[in-house]
Amino acid sequence: MNLSERQRLMLREMGIRLWSAPSRAVAPPAAEGGAGSAAAGGVAAEPAPRRSNLRGAAAAMPSPASSPQAPIALALALAPAPVPVPVPGITDDARAAQIAAADWPALREMVARCEACALCRTRRQTVFGVGHPQAHWMIVGEAPGEQEDAQGEPFVGAAGQLLDNMLRALQLTREAAPPQRQVYIANTLKCRPPRNRNPEPEELARCEPFLLRQIELIRPRIILAMGRFAVQSLLRSAEPIGKLRGRVHRCQGVPLVVTYHPAYLLRNPADKARAWDDLCLAAQIAEAAASPAAPA
Ligand code: URA
Repeated sequence: MNLSERQRLMLREMGIRLWSAPSRAVAPPAAEGGAGSAAAGGVAAEPAPRRSNLRGAAAAMPSPASSPQAPIALALALAPAPVPVPVPGITDDARAAQIAAADWPALREMVARCEACALCRTRRQTVFGVGHPQAHWMIVGEAPGEQEDAQGEPFVGAAGQLLDNMLRALQLTREAAPPQRQVYIANTLKCRPPRNRNPEPEELARCEPFLLRQIELIRPRIILAMGRFAVQSLLRSAEPIGKLRGRVHRCQGVPLVVTYHPAYLLRNPADKARAWDDLCLAAQIAEAAASPAAPA
């Protein structure tokens, strides 16, 4: 397998080890996840991976630079209609209309003053989002945690460090850069749920117009939805991540790829190889959108 420098960098940043291909035929692995797996060569996640992970990361690893159209067409064709999640009809129409018409400064102000759910009583501050207002990539997470609540910026804790590493491997960043390199990062909830509990459906419904307006203002080329609550909000789907990843969905007409939440990946490092596949798929979409249509 030939890995480009970018692919190698990405795997390293995500904590995925590379082995040099053995010079002769490889003996079958002695036991799953044991030394035999490493001898199989290629790519594995830490700790010692299962063979299925090796296969998923190495054999199925798309090359973002080569032939982007076929896998995208296949992924679009395979994407099933999402399973709807009931969301209580509590979003006030006038409020939703106001948010839907807001420009960046007005939207920021509305979020900062929002008292639409009880989270406003326990937050230290709202966490609006960061990044380029015309970013090609938009990353959507779940909700601020303790550090985000304190600093007012999304993904600044341990999960954020992993996210930054993943982005760096794709030559993307949250720091100032042109829109093809500087991503935009936002959450489904703009306020921290107490004790980092899961978001409630009512909270998600109340906060959703803000996120939809952010997407509308940015019009990114790709949305990366990280974790179950981002997926619930953006796709109205209660399906597990494992069933939704690996193909291209759409949210407000924008292509969307589903992947694991970085906090989950910290607890389940073996799934980093699958997250790598997801990022490669997202990169293909973003690059395909950037290149002019092939002549007929
Ligand atoms: N997890 C998230 O989903 N978002 C954050 O901002 C921090 C952790």
